[in-house]
Amino acid sequence: MEESRQIFIEKETPSTTPAAPTQTTTPTSPVTPASPTPAPSSTPEPVPEPLPPNMENVRCDLCGKDDNVVIYKGALKSEEGGSTKEEETYKSSGNKPTEDTIVKCNNCDLIYVNPRLKAEKIVHGYSEGADESFVSQVKGRETTSVAGLKFIEKFAKPGKILDIGTASASFLHVAKNRGWQVYGVEPNKWLCNWAQKNYGLYIQPGTIDSLNYPDNFFDVITLWDVLEHVPNPTEVLKKCHRLIKPGGYIYLNYPDYESYASKIMKSKWIFLLSVHIYYFTRETIAKTLEKTGFQTLKYRTHWQTLNFGYLIFRMQPYSMLLYKLGNFFAGLLHVKNFPLKYQLGQTGVIARKK
Ligand SMILES: [Zn+2]
Repeated sequence: MEESRQIFIEKETPSTTPAAPTQTTTPTSPVTPASPTPAPSSTPEPVPEPLPPNMENVRCDLCGKDDNVVIYKGALKSEEGGSTKEEETYKSSGNKPTEDTIVKCNNCDLIYVNPRLKAEKIVHGYSEGADESFVSQVKGRETTSVAGLKFIEKFAKPGKILDIGTASASFLHVAKNRGWQVYGVEPNKWLCNWAQKNYGLYIQPGTIDSLNYPDNFFDVITLWDVLEHVPNPTEVLKKCHRLIKPGGYIYLNYPDYESYASKIMKSKWIFLLSVHIYYFTRETIAKTLEKTGFQTLKYRTHWQTLNFGYLIFRMQPYSMLLYKLGNFFAGLLHVKNFPLKYQLGQTGVIARKK
């Protein structure tokens, strides 16, 4: 991650008190410091709160400009970005509705979280911890993977395929069975071990930066539910470009900010999650792919298959009542393991290396 960190311009706090700027006030009450209410007499002007040392302001990853407009004001208080939180937030099954502020670049329209937890802390968050709830859904993920792979195979014949952020490796398991030579990299060590034990697949622990393959090595690279999580999507795609053979393909999917689901559900959209730090549209994903040396070929509506019971479980942060009712009736009717195919605003795209 060393070189990728350079692309973030930190225009942070005035560096006067880098450590724990809010601690001095009332150590007993965890909520007081960021409360906007008191002090009516002195200064009514809202003074921008200094960022805690584990957060950073970031420029647009696509065009590099620092000129944006807030489109979603998050409730995240600075002290909640605390350094102990990243394992909880940044995991494959992370499902906390976002508390961050989301901005849109005035120059290129890229939508992203700003400010946010520092890049290295995000990556660290992914590398630790177990994720039982994610692997509980591997059967559904295999079904999702078969559909995705069939789409890819309309463009590319089975060859060498690298999956970045491979999670439980359900996709590579399916790809191997269909004649592909499979390679994977995944930051979460627990998931790497899980893939080894359950699928007999070696998945390299780490990020794309840990890979040592020669240039022009792979026929296809895939990123399933990955690009919206990484601190530096442009940098990641440039590295993919180097690793893919001339004329080879990249396939990725992302929560589409301009999908119908997003437009209808607005701030309740199920993919507005703390774990997502970028929100692409067809326009911005095409620009990002173009900038990194790819020609966009085709979009695809991404359908996902998960168990009914798991979808109810994911409802918890939105409505405890619906969750409890759903859980009760699903148990009563024995439909918790019923596979459900759904589409809530994810788009897939395939592009060719120019
Ligand atoms: Zn921009």
